[in-house]
Amino acid sequence: MSIKLYDQDSFLSEFQASVVSCTKTEKGYEIVLDQTAFFPESGGQYGDRGTIAENEVVDTYYKNGEIVHLCLSADNLTDSVTCKLDFDDRFKKMQNHTAEHIVSSFINKKYGFINVGFHLSKDFVTCDFNGMLTKEQLSEIELLANKVVFLNVPVRAYYPDEETLNSLVYRSKGELEGKVRIVEIEGVDYCACCAPHVKQTGQIGIIKIVGSIKYKSGIRITMKSGAYALDDYRLRFEQDELLSNILSAPQNDLIPALKEKLSSLDQKEAEISKLKNEMIDIVSDKTSNTENNICIDMPLFKMDDLRKMCNSLIEKTNELCVAISETEDGYLFVCESKTINLRDLSKKISIELDGKCGGSETMISGKLKASKEKIAEYFEKGMFHD
Ligand SMILES: [Zn+2]
Repeated sequence: MSIKLYDQDSFLSEFQASVVSCTKTEKGYEIVLDQTAFFPESGGQYGDRGTIAENEVVDTYYKNGEIVHLCLSADNLTDSVTCKLDFDDRFKKMQNHTAEHIVSSFINKKYGFINVGFHLSKDFVTCDFNGMLTKEQLSEIELLANKVVFLNVPVRAYYPDEETLNSLVYRSKGELEGKVRIVEIEGVDYCACCAPHVKQTGQIGIIKIVGSIKYKSGIRITMKSGAYALDDYRLRFEQDELLSNILSAPQNDLIPALKEKLSSLDQKEAEISKLKNEMIDIVSDKTSNTENNICIDMPLFKMDDLRKMCNSLIEKTNELCVAISETEDGYLFVCESKTINLRDLSKKISIELDGKCGGSETMISGKLKASKEKIAEYFEKGMFHD
């Protein structure tokens, strides 16, 4: 087994190593080194990336008890190779992983719940706990966790001797094999863990719980810490800035401004609806009783308005009335009849006027792509009878 350099120094980003083996596989070249600072995929955290003698390492994982670096090429593998971690990526993982320790520790201390699941992805972390927490409880945990960040307390990882280990009260995820590695956040938490962490809690920057859902018999919380949280804040700030411009309101006053805007839109909607109803009455009053079919174009009318229009006109005609309204890709259409079974005709109308419609025996609706003139002629002349 390779010497785990990350065990001794989680900030080591460049090192020399000897290649123990290099195996070509379908995915690429699996390289084993005599020592490595690359942390392999484990415990819900994806494997480290970087380079070995400038060959790109796209993944690191355990295979047959060895730490394997998956490379896309295997050039210049001399006796001593220079290996470099993608430390930017690794540091973000350490920020988020250490944040998880702090949050889990407080949840465990205050509510007795255990962290039963952990997943670290490229921009957020999820943690599952075997008990439910309210928004207020999570908010309090978040404040407590951030206080530990602000106090910048030391984080140490070590292998205690058996006697020391037995005297420690520490958290652990599942059964432990071999020597137990303890990660201690001074004055806050002891946890058995083999991953790399930051050295001082201040390096986490900030911890933000951004979501929670009920999960199995407990809760799944989503967190963003350090660089993940900064990216998130920048995105939200950008959105706030845009909203602030749209609403012409200061950023700390967006909700009242948005409510006012929505209420004014509601009012306008009600006014439009009233005007449309008045329009329906006027059109209906001005339409004389006729033995012919009626087809009327009502610009800007929606489907519901067209239905109301038809309901109002149907008494003026012996057979049927149609109301249409132009859209980007054809005409909204409603047809009502007292005498014809429209459901039986809807397929024929759909084909002959290039559209799609359906409904009941007395009323059908849909969208037609034929021209306004063609639709009017079709219904006024009763061509659907042919
Ligand atoms: Zn850990």
